[in-house]
Amino acid sequence: TSESVKFVYDFTEGNKDLKDLLGGKGANLAEMTNLGLPVPPGFTITTEACKTYLDSGEEPVELRDEVSAHLDALEKNMGKKLGQADDPLLVSVRSGAKFSMPGMMDTVLNIGLSDKSVTGLAKQSGDDRFAWDSYRRLIQMFGKTVLGVDGELFEDALEKAKEAKKVAVDTDLEAADLKKLVTKFKKIVKTEAGRDFPQDPREQMDLAIRSVFESWNTDRAKLYRRQERIPGDLGTAVNVCSMVFGNLGPDSGTGVAFTRDPASGHQGVYGDYLQNAQGEDVVAGIRNTVPLADLEQIDKKSYDQLMQIMETLETHYKDLCDIEFTIERGQLWMLQTRVGKRTAGAAFRIATQLVDQGLIDEAEALQRVNGAQLAQLMFPRFDESAKTEQLGRGIAASPGAAVGKAVFDSYTAIKWSRSGEKVILIRRETNPDDLDGMIAAEGILTSRGGKTSHAAVVARGMGKTCVCGAEDLEVDTKRRRMTVGETVIEEGDVVSIDGSTGKVYLGEVPVVPSPVVEYFEGRMHAGADDADELVAAVHRIMAYADRVRRLRVRANADNAEDALRARRFGAQGIGLCRTEHMFLGERREMVERLILADADNEREDALKELLPLQKQDFIELFEAMDGLPVTVRLLDPPLHEFLPDITELSVRVALAESRKDANENDLRLLQAVHRLHEQNPMLGLRGVRLGLVIPGLFTMQVRAIAEAAAERKTAKGDPRAEIMIPLVGTVQELEIVREEAEQVIAEVVESTGVELKLALGTMIELPRAALTADQIAEAAEFFSFGTNDLTQTVWGFSRDDVEASFFTAYLEKGIFGVSPFETIDKDGVGKLVRDAAKAGRETRPDLKLGVCGEHGGDPESVHFFHEVGLDYVSCSPFRIPVARLEAGRAAS
Ligand code: PEP
Ligand code: MG
Repeated sequence: TSESVKFVYDFTEGNKDLKDLLGGKGANLAEMTNLGLPVPPGFTITTEACKTYLDSGEEPVELRDEVSAHLDALEKNMGKKLGQADDPLLVSVRSGAKFSMPGMMDTVLNIGLSDKSVTGLAKQSGDDRFAWDSYRRLIQMFGKTVLGVDGELFEDALEKAKEAKKVAVDTDLEAADLKKLVTKFKKIVKTEAGRDFPQDPREQMDLAIRSVFESWNTDRAKLYRRQERIPGDLGTAVNVCSMVFGNLGPDSGTGVAFTRDPASGHQGVYGDYLQNAQGEDVVAGIRNTVPLADLEQIDKKSYDQLMQIMETLETHYKDLCDIEFTIERGQLWMLQTRVGKRTAGAAFRIATQLVDQGLIDEAEALQRVNGAQLAQLMFPRFDESAKTEQLGRGIAASPGAAVGKAVFDSYTAIKWSRSGEKVILIRRETNPDDLDGMIAAEGILTSRGGKTSHAAVVARGMGKTCVCGAEDLEVDTKRRRMTVGETVIEEGDVVSIDGSTGKVYLGEVPVVPSPVVEYFEGRMHAGADDADELVAAVHRIMAYADRVRRLRVRANADNAEDALRARRFGAQGIGLCRTEHMFLGERREMVERLILADADNEREDALKELLPLQKQDFIELFEAMDGLPVTVRLLDPPLHEFLPDITELSVRVALAESRKDANENDLRLLQAVHRLHEQNPMLGLRGVRLGLVIPGLFTMQVRAIAEAAAERKTAKGDPRAEIMIPLVGTVQELEIVREEAEQVIAEVVESTGVELKLALGTMIELPRAALTADQIAEAAEFFSFGTNDLTQTVWGFSRDDVEASFFTAYLEKGIFGVSPFETIDKDGVGKLVRDAAKAGRETRPDLKLGVCGEHGGDPESVHFFHEVGLDYVSCSPFRIPVARLEAGRAAS
């Protein structure tokens, strides 16, 4: 029905909040139009129209008429008709989804040119060369993107034309040359696409619109979306915009700009400008650009106006904006703006700068950064004091320190990285076809292009180290090498690139910790130089997150050293001490003796040996975490993990037997290994089951905990131990262990004379435990969700195997966008967590609830745990700052 649906919006109708419908580009063009900024008139076809097309294979029936009506209005406004022979209106047809997908989808410029109107354009502009150049660009872009002709055929023809004329750049080709090129291009289209290049302007426009719709689903667009976690069903909008020309001579040009430096956040004039060029030339890095500041000399009036507009935009959007603009014969036009991508460090700096400028408040500042960015800032950097051999310096496009073997094409990057090599992808410039290779590489190095080149934009988005425009490097992709002066770097040679300084080094440069980690470690404080400015920004935002968050953050740690680091990083206790980690190394033999014990007394002896060692472990841990809760989990993994490998041992014994010198101990060991061997150890004799089957094991651990706590108390410490039982499936298991534990604790209280309050609780990591949480809460003072095992058992995925086996296929097919072991599966596993939390609290209102699976340090999962009302998340020490930040973001 035509009453409610509206598939086309004029730029004057939309606004920046309509990104779902108009895409980012369309929404912001509308916003700028309504701000009174110079935007060439045009209209936007909605993502709904695209979705209909993608679902049904046909444009919605209303679309044609709506486009006609808007085109009519546009033609009236501009005083000329699309493709009109004597004075053509030309339009661009540009993709633009809700989330920016730089270079991934189609765009066609100069729609409306034909054999007839090209002469009209020439007359109107008084510039033959320009008209024919625009026409050849149209056929080239249209041929490649709409008609699917191999783009290299056009490029080769252009190269040949330059060679024939003996010129180096395309701007040196004259009208007559370009006219010949047009004939050549049309022939290419005819042979390759099996049809003539369409002369009807409306047909050009309709086909271009359709091709933009279709470009939503190209392989590279899909890959990019998976990488960036952009949903696959959003569709793209299509912007039809009257053309303005940057290729009308030296008083024209095109450029990109940032309202502040996307790498440092500093305010100033940042961007690139290219004289006498059209749209995509800048991003593609075809010719080298000049810094935006040079525009002041080239065209002061436009420069001043641009500065003014940038200020307007920043105040309006209250954020860093990036901009695409074109100058047509001294007249400035805005072609795009959006809140710009930035490096992790700049995100923190800008957020606090904007607070200081009074543009946003602290709550908003917290939303302007995220845990992934903070994690990035915690990466190590190159050691500045190391001896290095610098090869050159490019533009610091995306920070980080990357070391790897030089490769010169994406295919090799992928192949080598699959076989475990770290690689640096080196290209003259990258294009969207390099996406796979960029993902596979540790870092990206290009010899051409500025901060806004494809390589820079995409790498920043991926959080990947990138140095671009390192012009001293002669990259020869055909021969797979680059040369810098005398030095030749062949494929496979190691290089190091610093995305924070732009420096490129030969060989492996050692790395040092990040200043942000130094700050968390308490070894650095706010000051004045560049690193400290970042630290100061992180400090302020973390302080705010800590003030507003409700979730507490604990650490998964099982030794004093990790515990102390976690504490420095802001941990408010230990949420999971995996005691099996205390049984490794030389203690393994004691465990072996315990497992092999035939008689009660042998077993008791083994346990007696272990007791003081365990106790000492706990004393150290409680001391490190004095005053904060420490959740000690009793032994969890299957016992055979403590015994030798079954195959190795079998071979050893068989060999020994053949030599007739088999030793008694090996034979017993082999028997035990056989006895304990399980097909599915993860579902076998582990967790609470061990405690119930091996007499004295859990009670030894409980005794060690209780005695350690008593000793710490006597030493005037403040131990806050909690005892946690793993892999419980029914309350009966818990009740038995609980009773035994309480008895041991009572004995320790009795013998030491120290009063002890030790909370007893359980992990919820089996579906049955979650489903009977109301009953289990009768016997548990706290729950800690073990979302690793819970994910494993809810999905029936072996956590140790799947990532290497079929997950890649699942991710490729889009069955999930991210592994459920990484980000909590809200609908399945998450539902159990939510329901169990609720049921548990109904039984026991003061039940303490936490999570200690890997998800505890995953940003998206942290938000979920906040939402379902858990009390804390527990994660590895290094992820604690991330969890604090995300808990703050979830709460504000
Ligand atoms: C879990 O299962 O989520 C958990 C924390 O325990 P583990 O990883 O030690 O099995
Ligand atoms: Mg577990």
